[in-house]
Amino acid sequence: MNYLSTRGDKTERRFCDILLEGLAPDGGLYLPVRYPQVDAATLTRWRGLAYPELAFEILSLYIDDIPAEDLRAICARTYTAEVFGTPEITPLKPLAPGLALQALSNGPTLAFKDMAMQLLGQLFEYELQRRGETLNILGATSGDTGSAAEYAMRGKAGVRVFMLSPHGRMSPFQQAQMFSLQDENIHNIAVEGVFDDCQDIVKAVSNDLAFKREHKIGTVNSINWARLLAQVVYYFAGYFYATKSNEERVSFCVPSGNFGNVCAGHVARMMGLPIERLVVATNENDVLDEFFRTGVYRPRGSAETHETSSPSMDISKASNFERFVFDLLGRDGARVKALFKDALERDGRFEISAAEKAAIAGYGFVSGASSHADRLATIRATQQQYGVIVDTHTADGLKVAQDWRQDGIPMLVLETALPAKFAATIVEALGEEPPRPAHLQGIEALPKRVQLMPADAQQVKDYIHAHVR
Ligand SMILES: *Cc1c(COP(=O)(O)O)cnc(C)c1O
Repeated sequence: MNYLSTRGDKTERRFCDILLEGLAPDGGLYLPVRYPQVDAATLTRWRGLAYPELAFEILSLYIDDIPAEDLRAICARTYTAEVFGTPEITPLKPLAPGLALQALSNGPTLAFKDMAMQLLGQLFEYELQRRGETLNILGATSGDTGSAAEYAMRGKAGVRVFMLSPHGRMSPFQQAQMFSLQDENIHNIAVEGVFDDCQDIVKAVSNDLAFKREHKIGTVNSINWARLLAQVVYYFAGYFYATKSNEERVSFCVPSGNFGNVCAGHVARMMGLPIERLVVATNENDVLDEFFRTGVYRPRGSAETHETSSPSMDISKASNFERFVFDLLGRDGARVKALFKDALERDGRFEISAAEKAAIAGYGFVSGASSHADRLATIRATQQQYGVIVDTHTADGLKVAQDWRQDGIPMLVLETALPAKFAATIVEALGEEPPRPAHLQGIEALPKRVQLMPADAQQVKDYIHAHVR
């Protein structure tokens, strides 16, 4: 399988080349040249597979530059009950007839980003070893992504992580999760500033091309195709867990920010998985809900980006969204470029045509938004009705899912984090602390390994330089 850019450059690339890269050279995102089609006989065969085997079957349709035995071993090492808590890896938690959560948040950092990041760690180690190269991952985090990256890369040969976070601004639990890692190859840098300062430093360092090349700087951001591909697997798994035969259809509701998670659902549906609806749930940062309701895509400035109690969905633009629009517009790269480059730079927004908007229904997408009050009410109602405590992001999903349920079609709401990660809002809603997995009791008291630094790109560069040899 080869890959091409969403912005019209027809140069085809292979999986392991784009694995270690970000954007395509023309500024677009990579997508496979076509979606492999899965027929009924294949679905029947896959239904009986354990999760790592299912992952191997799906990944091998997209990866032809890693030998099959190696890829199978990578999947088996990644998706274990030791790391994800159960042999099902993403088990369903039924709430009511036709309504269930699909648990994606039982990995090391209690959020769904582990599902993809753990695979990325294995793939990076494998490919770097094969090439005899090393990679230094530089990133900025306000919580979830940075910790998922560190837990995926810790102890991996050939990879170092330099993760910037705003000093004193993450929750004590999040700080403890990251800073308690004692691995030699993980470097936590607490920057005296806010998240935007951290991001500006990452940009400044990445824009210094000579430094970037000499120090082999890379990233693990959400536009990475391998991350998206890893996420396709659990849509198939959820479908098999929720149904008895391939005649049945299911819908998924996905708490969304950067459109990475739900874009994987789109890919699964394009492959032929019988998905009825893909429900996009946002919080007050409703860039995506606005698009699906009106056909207008309008990224927000930082002044218009709300800080909410589902913070991992606080985005100003949806960085994976271009992939879906590419498919919606008949894979017309020139048109995608006219919208995402020309129109956004000129007007800060674009609007698709009425005919293009009408075509959205054929892809199963619908949407809705949730607020802080909705979140609190949903967390309370879910505990009262079903005896289950959900986190704030999952609550946004459950709230929006209610509006789109249909008789006879199970609705699976993706549980994207455990409530222990967002304890303050759970206490606000329920007046009690959420349960915490036993192995994470008392992590706030562990010794911390973190370097405090002013918001200064040069000092970060000096630190990296001193630690990469
Ligand atoms: C990242 C994240 C999301 C949003 O996922 P996208 O792929 O960016 O749409 C939702 N919930 C949680 C808990 C997250 O960490």
